[in-house]
Parts: sequence; C-alpha cells; structure tokens
Amino acid sequence: MARIGFVGLGRMGAHMARNLVKAGHEVVAFDIVPEAVAVVVASGATAAFSSAAAARDADVVITMLPAGEQVRDAWLGQGGLMKAARADALLMDCSTIDVATARDVAAAAGRPFLDAPVSGGVMGAEAGTLTFMVGGSAEAVARARPVLEAMGRTIVHCGEAGAGQVAKLCNNMMLAATMAVTSEAFVMAEKLGLPAQALYDVCSKSTAMSWALNNYCPVPGPVPASPANRDFAPGFTAALMRKDLGLAQQAAKDAGVATPVGALALSLFDRLVEGGAADKDFSAIITLVREGAAS
Ligand code: NAD
Repeated sequence: MARIGFVGLGRMGAHMARNLVKAGHEVVAFDIVPEAVAVVVASGATAAFSSAAAARDADVVITMLPAGEQVRDAWLGQGGLMKAARADALLMDCSTIDVATARDVAAAAGRPFLDAPVSGGVMGAEAGTLTFMVGGSAEAVARARPVLEAMGRTIVHCGEAGAGQVAKLCNNMMLAATMAVTSEAFVMAEKLGLPAQALYDVCSKSTAMSWALNNYCPVPGPVPASPANRDFAPGFTAALMRKDLGLAQQAAKDAGVATPVGALALSLFDRLVEGGAADKDFSAIITLVREGAAS
C-alpha cells in the first residue's frame, strides 16, 4: 500500500481521499480550508499543515483543485509540491484545467507527471466509480493504475501530457451541446402537443439516445433520478459546465479549430449562470429554452 499526499479536499477530493483510505492507503491530506481537512481525518486520513508537508515522503502526490491557476501555484509556486515531493514519487493532477497549464506543469516536473481529470461527478467520486482520462507516459499510467482503481472504475490512457485534459474538455463540450439541444426538443414537443414521456420513450431507444437524455432528462418524470425532478439540485453545476466550455473554447482557439456549436453552448451557459443558476444542475439549461419559447 502507498503513502499518498492528497491536496484539495472539496466536493470531489474529499470522497476520493476517503476511498484511498478505504483501499488501505495511508493518506496525508491538505486543504487551505481546515474544516475540509477535518472531514477526511475523521475517515482515517492524517492531517498535513501545508501542501509541501502532505507531499514530503509520499509515494504518490495527487491534487484536486478548482482551476489551472491553483494547480500551477500548488505545484510550481514557492514551497510548491514539485520541490517537496520525493524524486521518485508519482505525481498527478486530477483537476479539470486548461491544456496549456497541464502541459507546462508536466514539462516542469522533469519526471513522470500525469494529468488525470475525471468524469462521474460527486456521486461517482463518493461511489468510487469515476472515469479517469489520463495523459502521460505508459509506464507512469501503469504505476498509477492501482491507485486510480481505488477511486474509479474506468481508466483510459489518452496519450502524452495534456491528453487527459483534451479528452475531458471534448467530452464536456459534447455533453453541454447535447443537453442544450435535448432541452430544445422537449420544449418544442410540449408546444406541439407531444407528451414528454412519449418523446422520452421514443428517443431514449432510438438514434437520439444519449447520456444527457437517458440519465439527466431535463424534464421531470421520465427519469425519476434526474435533477429536473428536484428543482435542478446538482449533479454537475451550470457553473462548472461553463468553466469547462470556456476551457474547451480556449483549447479549440489554440489549436486553430472552429467549434461554432461549442461556442454557442458556452454563450447559452454564460446566460444561464449570469441569470442566477450557477449552482443549479447544468440540465437547468431547459429553463432558458422555456423563457425563449414564452417570449
Ligand atoms: P471544490 O471547489 O469543491 O474543491 C476544491 C478544493 O480545493 C477546496 O476545498 C479548496 O479549499 C481547495 N483549494 C483551493 N486552493 C487550494 C490550494 N492552493 N491548496 C490546497 N487546497 C486548495 O471543487 P470540486 O467540485 O471538488 O472540483 C475539483 C476539480 O474537479 C475542479 O477542477 C472541477 O472542475 C473538477 N470536477 C468537478 C466535478 C464535480 O461534479 N464537482 C466533476 C468532475 C470534475
């Protein structure tokens, strides 16, 4: 079993750290919010009083932070993880961040460093069923696999440094656009007199089927567990979706690729978040469509 330094114990990180403890690893945990550390200590982790202290003597160092800025600072800033970690430690960041920062941090590491963002949300983090999209060398991914398997069910090696973030941003751009057009279809069907259940029964089993429709159906009823049945309590928040769509647009621009549907999805989620729905599930995008249909 490994000694694991874990930094960033928020909605995702706390569950991930707890699953590592459950799997028998020794977890040394740090967050800038002391209450967040206390929660995982209650589950068997040891508290560290700085990120460097969490990394010292660890076999594996993991970060799960809000955005690229925090990731760059945590790894490369003064007193950062890169200096504190042992030379032979396996290093990885599981946050969703911009591709350029992921590549910069990996390049600065000068040793195996993985970008390993996740899909599956807070529920997947709690259940230990996350999907990891991993960028880095095949050797480092093989070494990381037993640790990742304690937190997730599916581990996909996507390619070299940054490839995990590219996969994550592509995934969420597809998901956002799918949810937006699915919402349009439900509002359109309603206005044309087609019951939501009938639309669901057809499309969830035909060529329009998708994760957005079949699991997160944006109207209450057809999928009882979907956020639409509980006033769009998340799930995956509109704010996080907007963040990821912004990162996807930046990556597309850097790569010289036109993504007009992705750009439109970003502008829709901008409006949703600025309209006060930042903390609602991203499937609340249907409320924008309804407002448009009413005007
Ligand atoms: P969160 O805001 O709940 O947690 C982030 C934690 O990092 C907080 O506890 C914060 O105090 C801590 N932190 C910030 N700066 C720090 C620093 N310098 N040192 C130590 N700790 C620091 O966010 P989250 O929902 O857990 O998401 C984490 C990452 O995972 C994000 O990049 C997010 O986009 C991604 N993600 C989230 C979800 C989700 O459903 N919440 C799903 C997939 C991916």
